[in-house]
Amino acid sequence: MSNKDNIELIGDSHFSNNTETPLRKDAFDKSDEDKIKSIQHHFSEIMKELGLDLTDDSLSGTPYRVAKMYVKELFYGLNPKNRPKTSIFENKYQYEKMLVEQNITIDSACEHHFLPITGNAHVGYIPKNKVIGLSKINRLVDYYAHRPQVQERLCLQILKDLQNTLGTEDVIVVIQAKHLCVSSRGIKDKSSFTTTIEYGGKFIESDVRNEFLEIVNKPFDIT
Ligand SMILES: [Zn+2]
Repeated sequence: MSNKDNIELIGDSHFSNNTETPLRKDAFDKSDEDKIKSIQHHFSEIMKELGLDLTDDSLSGTPYRVAKMYVKELFYGLNPKNRPKTSIFENKYQYEKMLVEQNITIDSACEHHFLPITGNAHVGYIPKNKVIGLSKINRLVDYYAHRPQVQERLCLQILKDLQNTLGTEDVIVVIQAKHLCVSSRGIKDKSSFTTTIEYGGKFIESDVRNEFLEIVNKPFDIT
């Protein structure tokens, strides 16, 4: 198989066997500002190769906008410095049942095509000695999503971080997401979406897992 065929194959099967995001050792030697400057230069070269006229008013700022968006927005989660501080509290009220945070927005990007992955995450855990501020779960999901990702790894990274932070294996993460690289290119399937599910501890028991799945599958109705 030619190298180019293999590149397409890896992209279309969205295959990756690394739990850790593959990063270079010197990933954060440069400042964000220097990265933006360098990406701006390279992206303007890409645009020029495509034949675009960068003296046009509408296009002239695009390389800078894209560079800033990559470093500060879409991929801010690559830098461990940006991991949200997770305030952990003692489980004073001895809440020992399942806590579910659901419909957390997923805004990510596929690492094979750099196209958006959008959807929702549902996270559940059974507290031991520690509990976490609710919005911190959302922030952690947001942080890991803002990297070039594969959905399976995103699911695992959220699970592992929460297990470490909360000091318990009893965590479950479900992600349902649409991949623009599936809907807008390649097979061009507009309706399919992908579900990933990762769990440990008590969630290995099917009745505990089913209790969680029943909660997240119920339509939200507060009235
Ligand atoms: Zn892709």
